[in-house]
Amino acid sequence: MKREKREGQERHFPRVLHFPLFFDISSKIPAYYYVMIDLHTHTLLSDGVLLPAELVQRAHNAGYKAIGITDHVDMSNIDFVVPRIVEASKELAAYSKTTIIPGAEITHVPPPLIRKLVEKARSLGAQLVVVHGETVAEPVIPGTNRAAIESSADILSHPGLISMEDAVLAKENGVMLEITSRKGHSLSNGHVAKIAMAAGATMIINTDSHSPDDLISIHRAKIVLSAAGIPEESIDTIFANSQKFVDTTGRNECRK
Ligand SMILES: [Zn+2]
Ligand SMILES: [Zn+2]
Repeated sequence: MKREKREGQERHFPRVLHFPLFFDISSKIPAYYYVMIDLHTHTLLSDGVLLPAELVQRAHNAGYKAIGITDHVDMSNIDFVVPRIVEASKELAAYSKTTIIPGAEITHVPPPLIRKLVEKARSLGAQLVVVHGETVAEPVIPGTNRAAIESSADILSHPGLISMEDAVLAKENGVMLEITSRKGHSLSNGHVAKIAMAAGATMIINTDSHSPDDLISIHRAKIVLSAAGIPEESIDTIFANSQKFVDTTGRNECRK
């Protein structure tokens, strides 16, 4: 379904019929209401194994309501990768019930260069900018978390041993902190959840899928969040955060 059409429909029908976030997200919406939304995945445009078309079809088959395609980029490939994801997303949208959000994951870029690439990704049409955070699984350059937050990326993925100071700044800048189902990166989920909750920062859950087996159900997402020590009511809010991003994306393309 084309995005323009979907938005047109929203103007004619009360959004409450489709989206719970018509209400304050603090209102009690049970987790079972939600359908899987995943805002961090990879295709063979970087190191994933599927073409965007197959990833979208696999996501649809797995019951996804929406998927963000966020291949790894740095200064060498951003102008190659992002326009192709944008083009694929646009064409596939007409034939997919799963909403597709074109994006990028800025990866292992020196912190002083991150802001420039966040802006470049947006200028190339990315509606979702993720920055590859300081995961405990890789030697990401210290200062990456801070640079991502100061650059107002949409999502700081797998932020590892994020500091309270950075989490507070993430809250102020509206940068979502990621809880991940991905092996290795997920080692610090408990820490990220604890700090994010203490700071009042917005959390989100993603899979960081590189292959079809990495896609998960909403039930599995709930288990991952519970395992991170997140209480039931906050889990509902995290699902609502993904929903809210999908609802607002496309109407706010110049988000900074
Ligand atoms: Zn990453
Ligand atoms: Zn990733």
